[in-house]
Amino acid sequence: MVDLKGQYEAIKNTIDASVIEVIESTAFINGPKVHEFQKNLEDYLDVKHVIPCANGTDALQIAMMGLGLKPGDEVITADFTFAATVEVIALLGLTPVLVDVEPDTFNIDVEAIKKAITSNTKAIVPVHLFGQCANMDAIMDIANEHNLFVIEDNAQAIGATYTSSNGKKQKAGTIGHVASTSFFPSKNLGCYGDGGAIFTNDDKLAHVIRGIVNHGMYRRYYHDVVGVNSRLDSIQAVILNTKLKYLDSYNKARQDAARKYNEAFKGQEYIVTPITKRTCDGICSDCDCHVFHQYTLKITNGKRDALVDHLNGLDIPCGVYYPVPLHLQEAYKDARYNEADFQVTNQLIKEVISLPMHTELDDEQIEFITSKVIEFVNG
Ligand SMILES: *Cc1c(COP(=O)(O)O)cnc(C)c1O
Repeated sequence: MVDLKGQYEAIKNTIDASVIEVIESTAFINGPKVHEFQKNLEDYLDVKHVIPCANGTDALQIAMMGLGLKPGDEVITADFTFAATVEVIALLGLTPVLVDVEPDTFNIDVEAIKKAITSNTKAIVPVHLFGQCANMDAIMDIANEHNLFVIEDNAQAIGATYTSSNGKKQKAGTIGHVASTSFFPSKNLGCYGDGGAIFTNDDKLAHVIRGIVNHGMYRRYYHDVVGVNSRLDSIQAVILNTKLKYLDSYNKARQDAARKYNEAFKGQEYIVTPITKRTCDGICSDCDCHVFHQYTLKITNGKRDALVDHLNGLDIPCGVYYPVPLHLQEAYKDARYNEADFQVTNQLIKEVISLPMHTELDDEQIEFITSKVIEFVNG
């Protein structure tokens, strides 16, 4: 699904030298390189505060801790996402409220959010799924109206730009009150191990969070709040410093691949290519509203599972993100849920398939993959 080796080969000299420099410096934890990465990412995103941490799941949890959410508070998020999002809500003793998504963008459905709001609702967690922002204009309006926090799960959309209806452009993860991201190796900006970060424009919240990631310490050995230990190490930071310089070109390479996939699948009756809403077609030459963490098709003639088997047999990697809706997962079942409220997710899990998507895909690979998919789906 991803070609991390090919991507590494292209930047090997810089990466290797910077990693050795960290080893020789022995400043492994909280060293100057982590600070440098923090500053570079703040500049890139145009956000006031980046707080690096150990992974994207921690980032979400810490963001929620920083907002002071309390057991019993309800947090609305999407039914169709990676489990990390709902996991941390549950871990903190908050009440997850899963809602349906849009059939075309796969992102959280605004009308479903409105329906789910109660007097206990405290936050909304939109997940910018597969590389495209959720409908942030509408989500921020709802949040303002009901006095809710918005925590963007930006693990899949770093580098994407969201264009509001008034034309204002902002980077994904800088629109809500706080955001989390992951530097897991296969993410659009991935390190060579685990890593994550929290972003916010709120000075007070940033201060609170900087303490939480460090055992709740604001002065050495004084623990003012219950914190966690969640750090990005210096080796990952130098890798990220190098890769951040290439993030836009990496995302462009993903968009190029998506455009070629779309072109090859044009006119196919049973294959629905990814749809980018609210701005343009998402992959025009000068926009970056979709950064294609995944390239996800819908197969509408019931052959999705057979296609997965077929591609596996041909050694063409593919993935089903996600095969089980969160509301049906053993850990997150809740008697209050009603199947009728999850019609889109329940359909998507039967139709979606993600094809290889990375920075090193070439025309020949795309041609091979698309011809095999088309041949099988119509066969
Ligand atoms: C990857 C991912 C996470 C978790 O990130 P980790 O670094 O693996 O903890 C959270 N949310 C979404 C949507 C993700 O894709």
